[in-house]
Order: sequence, then structure tokens, then C-alpha cells
Amino acid sequence: MKHYEYDVVIVGLGPAGASLAFMLRNSGLRVAGIDWVGADKVWGKPCGDAISASHFDRNGLPHPSGDALMQVVNGALVYSPSEEGVIRLAGQSAGYMIDRNKYGLMLLREASKAGVDVYLKTRASHPVIEGGRLAGVRATSEELGEVEFRAKVVVDATGSGGAIRRKLPESWPTRESSPETDFVVAYRKIVELDYDIEEPDFIRLYFNVDIAPGGYWWLFPKGRRVANIGLGVQLGRGFPHPATIYREVLMKRPDVGREVRVINEAGARIPTRRPSKTMVWDGFISIGDSAYTVDPIHGGGMGYAMTAARHAADTLVEAFTNGDLTAKGLWGLNLRYMRTTGAKQAALDVLRMFLQTLTNDEIEWAIRKGLAGIDEIMSVFGEGELRTTPSFMEKVNFIVRLLGKPILLTKLVLVSEYMRRAKKLYLEYPEDPKGLDEWAGRVESLYNEYRKAVGIPF
Ligand SMILES: Cc1cc2nc3c(=O)[nH]c(=O)nc-3n(C[C@H](O)[C@H](O)[C@H](O)COP(=O)(O)OP(=O)(O)OC[C@H]3O[C@@H](n4cnc5c(N)ncnc54)[C@H](O)[C@@H]3O)c2cc1C
Repeated sequence: MKHYEYDVVIVGLGPAGASLAFMLRNSGLRVAGIDWVGADKVWGKPCGDAISASHFDRNGLPHPSGDALMQVVNGALVYSPSEEGVIRLAGQSAGYMIDRNKYGLMLLREASKAGVDVYLKTRASHPVIEGGRLAGVRATSEELGEVEFRAKVVVDATGSGGAIRRKLPESWPTRESSPETDFVVAYRKIVELDYDIEEPDFIRLYFNVDIAPGGYWWLFPKGRRVANIGLGVQLGRGFPHPATIYREVLMKRPDVGREVRVINEAGARIPTRRPSKTMVWDGFISIGDSAYTVDPIHGGGMGYAMTAARHAADTLVEAFTNGDLTAKGLWGLNLRYMRTTGAKQAALDVLRMFLQTLTNDEIEWAIRKGLAGIDEIMSVFGEGELRTTPSFMEKVNFIVRLLGKPILLTKLVLVSEYMRRAKKLYLEYPEDPKGLDEWAGRVESLYNEYRKAVGIPF
């Protein structure tokens, strides 16, 4: 068996891992990145391929361009179950439809040029634990055979499977598990259509629990004739697999079924919940889907994988400078992520559970009444708070519109209150690992109390 020594070994080179490799390229650390796929499948996990432009600026990553940029997104159309209620959200160059493989390869090429060692077709099998400490990972490489990558810090960026995290000692808090209902399974096709898509710069989201229970279905144009079409369905509730729904329901629609060619089709799980209670432990970091950093409402995870990577990069440089690679030395990642992003995601997780209980009738009503109007949507997506009381007049308006659904009003007030409490709790994230158990207990109690109060099944 071969042995290689690094400061940092990143397992998984999707949006989280490749971004981290890119961000650490000039750090002076000896960094390796490994992924079981070959170059043609880099960033190959199925995805809707839509990403907000702000993620690139915020995380110091190059905006997609050339072949990696397939369509500039100037807005979104949100449809009610009958599709007669439509909310139009416009935002000039708000986002992109990308070619994930081309963008991911560009990041890896830049990282590699600057000295990061990239090992593709290399599958990590398990962590190496010595004397209770994480010392690296074992892997099998098509080219090199069995390899032990020894590392001072191992980063799990393997996506929702958490290939390394799941195999760490049971006593480590990073082993946190999650109920099935905290995930959706999503399936999508990239297809060439036989008609011109109107307004290809607008992505479309359709809310209809008869088609996509606990999620939504989408049609995201990648130019006039190519689209990424798919749906996400909540797991753990006995709903049919989204591939079946696609075949039996969506294919009957003229806008979906008129495909000339299927370019790619696949499905995968998405964690749609609050972030892991800790993203670090001794010599260990997890980022991206492995650490549940996806937006709980729309299931977009690329941008937050990049955010987690950026905070991980800053934390790693700090920890190596201080010579402390224990949980305490790496704790800065938790503090940075929870305060800037995790607190908002914790609040959105509260909202997500509520939205998954709504009937088509309630969604129809809310969208038609303009309840889920631009302000509400923007504030929900932007701030992680349901802004029910921005001003007196808006409050009066909001309540008058809700008079038709008093039960919904009562529930919304409760949801809003728990969103605020969840956000506050995440902003009070413990300063060091000693406070983790007590804090995690408070989080658990808050979400259990919320489920009971609003009537969300466990
Ligand atoms: C159908 C669908 C649609 C989606 N739509 C969107 C969208 O439009 N916009 C958006 O932002 N997000 C979307 N998401 C979510 C998004 O795809 C993920 O959040 C994002 O890819 C997470 O990045 P990641 O790097 O954490 O994980 P991944 O993309 O899963 O990458 C993990 C990498 O680890 C590698 N790996 C795994 N195990 C091992 C191992 N043992 N050894 C070596 N390598 C390993 C894999 O090959 C892979 O390259 C969607 C997801 C799905 C399933």
C-alpha cells in the first residue's frame, strides 16, 4: 500500500470540496483532493443547475463564464397548484444555469496549477483512526491501487452520503443522524425539447402536492430548447419515487413530454434541514450536503456548499497558524457558519416543516391572494424570518387577507415565533465544544415543542 502525507485531505470534489481545494490553493498548506469519479463526471451529481449570482461574490469564486455558463437567470415564476396563480419574481442577472462539470473542472484545474494534488477515480473507503485520533483515510485508486492518505485534517465533502462522517467513532458528535422526513429525494432530466421555451431567462417552480408532495417540481431552461426538469418529494412519508411521478404524470404535460433527446437523467437525496450540530471534531471537518448546509426551503445546496468551504478555508488557515487542529482549534468553522448562514437555515427549517403540511387548497389560496408575494418571499429567502409585521399598515393588510383562513393565521403566527426562536438559538451557538451537548439539547427541545404546537407529525 502507498502512503501519502498531507496537511489537509479533502474527500469529495463536488461544489463543497472543489471550492475548498480552490480556496486553499495559495494557503501554503499541503492539500490533496480525492474523488471517485473521473474528469468527465466531476460535479456529476444530479442537480437543477440553478445558482444565485451572489454566491460567487460572497465566496470569492469566479462567476461562471464561457461553456460553464448556459443561461443567465433574470427571474423566477412561481405557480399555484392550478397554475392560474403566478408570482413573478424579477431580478436582473440574479443567477445562472450552469454546466456543473465545466465549472467544477475549472476550479480543480486552477487548484491543481497552484499545487493542490487532485486524485480522481479514487474512492475513499474509511477513516484511519489511531489512538482515538483521526489520522487520514484509506482509498482505492484506479491508477495507484491501495493508498493511505495521511492527513492532519480530513474534510468530508462527499455529499449527502457522508462517506467518512458516517464511519467516525459513534461517540463523536459529528455522527449525528437525521429522520428520513428531513430529506427529499429529487430526480431530474436534462432534455432537448421540440419547442422554443418562452422567456428562457426565467426559471419556473410549480407547487402542487398531488405532483410533488413535500417539495415542488421545476422547469429550468438552459437556453431556448434545453431544460433541466425535475421534482423533489419528501422522504419518509410513503410517497412514490419522483422518477415514477415524472414518467406517469409530468411526461403527459405538453411542456415536459415534448422531448427530442434526453441528455442526462438521475436522482439523489437532498438534506433539507438545519445544519449539523457541529461541522468539526478533532482533525475533522465536514462541509456541503455532508454537513446539511442546503437551503431547507428550495433545496439549493451549491451556494451554501461554497459558503461552508469558504469558512472552512479561513478556519483551516487559522488552525494551522495556531497549531491547534482539535475540535476547539477548528471550532471557528461552526461559529462562522452558524452566525452568518446556519441561523437563517435553522429558521427556514421551521418554515419548511410547516409548508410541508399545507394542502393544495391552502397553497392555491395563499398564492392567489398574493400572500406569498414578493416581499414575503424575499424576506423569507433573504432573512430567515417570516416578516408578518413590518409596519402597522402592512400588518393590517396581511391579517385582513388571512381572515378567510383563521387557522392558517394562528399557525403562521406560531411558525413565525418559532422561526425567531430557532434563529436566536443558532446565533447563541456555543463558543467552544464544551457547550455543545447542552446547546444541542436545547435545539432538540425547541423543534420537538414546535412540532407539537403546530401539529407536524414526527
Ligand atoms: C435533483 C436535484 C436537483 C438539485 N437542484 C439544485 C439546484 O438547482 N441548485 C442548487 O444549488 N442545488 C441543487 N441541488 C442540491 C445540490 O446538488 C447539492 O446541494 C450540492 O451538489 C452539494 O454539493 P456537495 O459538494 O456537498 O456534494 P456533491 O455534489 O454530492 O459532491 C460530493 C462528491 O463526493 C464524491 N464522493 C462521494 N463519496 C466518495 C468517496 N467515498 N470517495 C471519493 N469521493 C466520493 C462524489 O463523487 C461527488 O463528486 C439539487 C440536488 C438534486 C439531487
